[in-house]
Amino acid sequence: MPEHGRPPAAPDWPRLARSLAARLSDSRVAVEAPLGALSTYRVGGCARLLVEVGTAADLRCLAGFAAVERWNVLVVGNGSNLLVADSGFEGVALRLTSAFAAARIEGSSVTAGAAALLPVLARRCAAAGLGGLGWAVGVPGSVGGAVRMNAGGHGSDMREVLRWADIADFASGGQRRFALEELALGYRTSALQRHHVVVEVECQLRSSQREREEELIRQIVAWRRRHQPGGANTGSVFANPPGDSAGRLAEAAGCKGLRIGSAAVSTVHANFIQADLGGSASDVLALMTEVARRVRSHSGIRLRHETCLVGFDEPSLRDLGFDGPGDVGAGIGERNSGGQNQEGMGLEQSRGRQL
Ligand SMILES: Cc1cc2nc3c(=O)[nH]c(=O)nc-3n(C[C@H](O)[C@H](O)[C@H](O)COP(=O)(O)OP(=O)(O)OC[C@H]3O[C@@H](n4cnc5c(N)ncnc54)[C@H](O)[C@@H]3O)c2cc1C
Repeated sequence: MPEHGRPPAAPDWPRLARSLAARLSDSRVAVEAPLGALSTYRVGGCARLLVEVGTAADLRCLAGFAAVERWNVLVVGNGSNLLVADSGFEGVALRLTSAFAAARIEGSSVTAGAAALLPVLARRCAAAGLGGLGWAVGVPGSVGGAVRMNAGGHGSDMREVLRWADIADFASGGQRRFALEELALGYRTSALQRHHVVVEVECQLRSSQREREEELIRQIVAWRRRHQPGGANTGSVFANPPGDSAGRLAEAAGCKGLRIGSAAVSTVHANFIQADLGGSASDVLALMTEVARRVRSHSGIRLRHETCLVGFDEPSLRDLGFDGPGDVGAGIGERNSGGQNQEGMGLEQSRGRQL
């Protein structure tokens, strides 16, 4: 915090945008770009700046800038786990374009860019007769988001298949390869922080039979259609507490079908919240808060949110009960389980986060 406790002056965003556009070779820079629209909730406001990064050289250039200017950075993958505040995001949002979505299969190893989509990759690997990534067909995220979140399902997760990830560090300006152990992937958590941008990964799969893997994929898709709702959501809002399921707890606490304004708890699965078209992020957050409150008073269990909260100010989150040990959100933002800010401390287990 600078002298007199005043927050740093907000950057001149249009000027910064012009300066970046002049330096980047194949990236798009936009001021006041709709960010909520990039999330599967489709609610929420704008990013002060959105950079759609088109080349590895541009990414390096941006990382160098960010390290010097100390930008508040948000990496957006496929937006399938983000709730963006109605006021938007006060910083620079990055999105890796399809230039980062290539995948290469060699033997039982698959190397994929961070922007590759998990369902596409899962189907490609199955078609190549490789096993180990079938679960990912039902997770509508990118490879980068999947590493950050340690996405998983059907008894597996990224930790089971990942070997390494190349990561650009927007705090130091550098890029290097992280071995699996350094990423400390846990249940829907990782050691990655807001300044880490996954660029490429390698997964080690196992040799299997194409028919077998494609049948598994068919079964997973059918199971998802039967058990999970469609509409605008981010999948599971809360992580399962040890030995129990957040959906079961929310249902037992009478949350199925509960509505606040433009947000409703699914009647199919009580751990899914759906946002109406044209709805608001504040309704979704208020409903998350109410579900967590009801579960706590019904079963004594404090749920941690899995959905990443982007751009909400800390006091309003605290008022809603989202700030403190035990309330752990996946995503960017650096607070450990003890609620302390971890920004700029390198890789640490990051829990209790808001973006
Ligand atoms: C219908 C539905 C079903 C779902 N089912 C599952 C499920 O079964 N299992 C599961 O685990 N999740 C599930 N999810 C949640 C979501 O798909 C996963 O968390 C996914 O990994 C998020 O990836 P993303 O690319 O969409 O990330 P985003 O939502 O864009 O971002 C999520 C986090 O990852 C970070 N991030 C994104 N890209 C990068 C990058 N390149 N480098 C560094 N950080 C990055 C973001 O900054 C943010 O912190 C579901 C979501 C939906 C909508």
